Amino acid sequence: MKNTPGNKAKIVLLACHNGSLLQSTPLGVASLCAALPPSCTYEILNLPPDFECVHIAETVAALQPKLIGFSLYVWNRVKLQHLAQTLRPLLPETVFVAGGPEVSCDTHLLEHSSTSKPLFDVVIQGHGEEMFRQLAAEVLAGSFVPSPQLQVRNAGKTLISESPWLKNIISPQRGVLLETARGCPFRCAYCFDARGSRTVRQIPPARVRKELELFAARGVEQVWVLDSSFNVPSSRGKELLYMFLQHAPGLHYHLEAKGEYIDAETAQLLAQLSCSVQVGLQSVDTQVLKNVNRTMDIARFEAGLFELYQHGVTYGIDLIYGLPGDTYTGLCASLEHTLGFYPNQVELFPLALLPGTALEQQRTTFGITALPEPPYTVTVTASMGEEEFARAEILASALDLFYNTGRAVAYFELLCSACNQSGVEFLHQLATWLEQEGHISNAAPRPNWEATQAHELQLQFVHTYFSHLELENLLPAAVDIIRYHYLYAETLLAPPLAPVTEQTNQDGTGHWTVAAGVHMGEFSYPVELYHSSGVEDLVEFEYLNSASPCGALFLRGLNAEVECRMVPIEVIALLRACEGATQVPAQYGTLDVVETATWIQDAVARGILRQNLS
Ligand code: SF4
Repeated sequence: MKNTPGNKAKIVLLACHNGSLLQSTPLGVASLCAALPPSCTYEILNLPPDFECVHIAETVAALQPKLIGFSLYVWNRVKLQHLAQTLRPLLPETVFVAGGPEVSCDTHLLEHSSTSKPLFDVVIQGHGEEMFRQLAAEVLAGSFVPSPQLQVRNAGKTLISESPWLKNIISPQRGVLLETARGCPFRCAYCFDARGSRTVRQIPPARVRKELELFAARGVEQVWVLDSSFNVPSSRGKELLYMFLQHAPGLHYHLEAKGEYIDAETAQLLAQLSCSVQVGLQSVDTQVLKNVNRTMDIARFEAGLFELYQHGVTYGIDLIYGLPGDTYTGLCASLEHTLGFYPNQVELFPLALLPGTALEQQRTTFGITALPEPPYTVTVTASMGEEEFARAEILASALDLFYNTGRAVAYFELLCSACNQSGVEFLHQLATWLEQEGHISNAAPRPNWEATQAHELQLQFVHTYFSHLELENLLPAAVDIIRYHYLYAETLLAPPLAPVTEQTNQDGTGHWTVAAGVHMGEFSYPVELYHSSGVEDLVEFEYLNSASPCGALFLRGLNAEVECRMVPIEVIALLRACEGATQVPAQYGTLDVVETATWIQDAVARGILRQNLS
């Protein structure tokens, strides 16, 4: 990204994303460039997390920039500081400036990083557009005066409303970041956003509207809305949601909301959008929340979450373990309470002691020990020892596997109640099994499971645990329900079935294949029992229904709805046998010749089975 065709940039901006591809846009440095006058030549390097320091240093040095900006976040500060150290001797005359959340409220990380002269000449604290523009003007005019100490420039409350999207500094890809406000009206002691004034500075609605129109026109799929509490006050949230619905209704939005401010109208609007909403709870212990200056009206929070549930909105809840005053038992109570909201996700993370936050100043009061470098994870508090932190991490891992990656919200309570256990007790059993089987350990507590792995581990655990509890009679239905929801979700995430084109050459040369987006599985009970209505009680279900094995095909038609079609179990085996074959069988298994031909013709006609003629 640069505005210097054929020329060397006078300004280089270095960002380093955290590897999450759809959200890797360097919006911060692009916003700085948007504030520069058109005469400034700049280049943005958006580095991957594993960038090779010497190679990048050589690339940057070859540009001979007059000014380099480093955009420092918790996930990249160490690497970018190392890059700055490598670059310093190569570019002795260049002005180095640092900004971003990692240095916006605490500069000591930078001040101690060099012996002879500061690693960075300037640090800009706060919203940097105006200050960076001024600094660039000084540097390019030759009037910048370096000093032996780090110069701190506080950006104060200035906020420039130039859009890096609309100025074409960055161009929309499949996933984009949409900034709608900066700052937060709350003052949670552990949070970056809580520092400074409580002012929330909104991006002008006209700019947001134009950005939405641009995203819609460019075929963007997902939008991460950067706004700590978009629905505070709720009138502001509703205005934004109306704007999304009016100007870019086809995109999928990721939003962060304050639970207490969700009312029926907000939930209705959210339900009309394709979106997921993340809500911070952190703990249900009022004293623990008070310790971190977090306001929470639990009754209003519950009412807000109930609205989301009632309106069928997809939502997740954040919890933090290791908050001052919290214990492992307290964490379990918070998690149990949270599971009762039926969230689609529960994000359970350890507390981080971020530099410059109010909590860091209280670390002695609360007996906090934390990692000195990013991610600054808290390892001990006065109320929670190392061993309890380790147990919490194992519990979080079990939750991640079964509930989040395993997408278990629809059946988690069903399984727990069949085992006569609470959600946390069930997760404890799972955690023990995962450790015994070597799937997790204290050294590697949170593997990055794929949904398919999570599904397999869910089935293995349920087999083991239900057998241990002598609930074998419930196993077929339990396995069915897990499998049904897995196949349904995989189909929902897959593309709709492509239209049927030419389907010929059944005697021929190409390989047969089951179309992308079609999922299939075998069930012990008629799958329609799960598709037409939910199962509320496993014991009652097993008592009232007779097992009758069947197969099911899951696919999305052009209306994007998931269709679940029950078929004889032999048809699933037949389709699997066709996969990769150059000829379809004339007769298969217990199906006779006519049945085999009929099912194949049906699958071909519907585009489920296709021949690759290339
Ligand atoms: S944790 Fe959330 S609500 Fe609290 S200050 Fe930070 S952004 Fe605001």
